[in-house]
Amino acid sequence: MEPQKEISQPTNKIETPGKDQEERCCSNICDKNDEKEPSSPNQGDFSDPVYKELALANGTINRMNREELRAKCAELKLDTRGVKDVLKKRLKSYYKRQKLMHSAAAGGNGDVYYDYICVVDFEATCEENNPPDYLHEIIEFPMVLIDTHTLEIVDSFQEYVKPEVNMQLSDFCVKLTGITQKMVDEADTFHTVLKRAVSWLQKKELGTKYSYMFLTDGSWDMGKFLYTQCRLSRIRYPKFAGKWINIRKSYGNFYKVPRTQTKLICMLENLGMHYEGRPHCGLDDSRNIGRIAIHMLKDGCQLRVNECLHLGEPRSVPISAPIEGAPAPQNPRSRD
Ligand code: AMP
Ligand code: MG
Repeated sequence: MEPQKEISQPTNKIETPGKDQEERCCSNICDKNDEKEPSSPNQGDFSDPVYKELALANGTINRMNREELRAKCAELKLDTRGVKDVLKKRLKSYYKRQKLMHSAAAGGNGDVYYDYICVVDFEATCEENNPPDYLHEIIEFPMVLIDTHTLEIVDSFQEYVKPEVNMQLSDFCVKLTGITQKMVDEADTFHTVLKRAVSWLQKKELGTKYSYMFLTDGSWDMGKFLYTQCRLSRIRYPKFAGKWINIRKSYGNFYKVPRTQTKLICMLENLGMHYEGRPHCGLDDSRNIGRIAIHMLKDGCQLRVNECLHLGEPRSVPISAPIEGAPAPQNPRSRD
């Protein structure tokens, strides 16, 4: 089991040369959401002999080399892609599910916490070397909806957003994101786009008929971009975005890899996949993050909320916190 690190909160005012700089910030948030192996002692009652069997199976898996792991996966008709740690985790999860899931969900994917996972990956205004006080404004609002029961991406939403403070995109930003000045000039402002995003979520009956949770690649989408944008647009931070799944953290804990291996491209490649589309296009980023999430669910990871916004800053949600989906989305409310 990974040692629990002390909570040290990142600040929203941290220098932001690029989103992947977030690694520094992310690793400061403690990792209490370790998806534990069944042999872990503090996960409830382990007196059932099945846990002994699982501990033995895990030991055997730990001693296998990559070729043996791949051969075993092939024999069990599991995906054979991915690096050694990924293959190990896949096999362990497979045995765990086989042994523990006797319910109707057995063999399926019934042990998920939310009916839907909604991936969000904002793009924002930026400079080549964002100064410490750089004010990022959201310029693309994409969402990708994953049905956790069918393990498919079932729908997506994408709108560009007109920045209001710094309306001129830097050449660097255009090159990085592929978003042109014309695209944002023709777009609506954040307040209007957020309303349409809310109505899209409402039409899907999320938070009412179905449980759901947002998922992001790191802490910045909600903890920095959305939080800053809401302040700029004089909107109260939406309650439905108050908690989310940080996939970097879930991935690192589940496959037991260090934070340096939880960048988007790295996670994809370690799972044996390649980035599809254009990096830093928010919708393509969201789709690729969604592909990772689906892969993790197939590998037996019960993706669950692990971060929240507290006093304007991202903070870890302890594993002991009750599992509940995000509240039903509501139209933006003015701060005044
Ligand atoms: P991403 O989701 O990685 O595409 O990044 C989200 C946002 O972070 C981008 O729209 C930029 O505002 C900012 N960003 C990402 N990478 C960089 C970079 N290398 N330099 C400056 N800003 C960046
Ligand atoms: Mg992106």
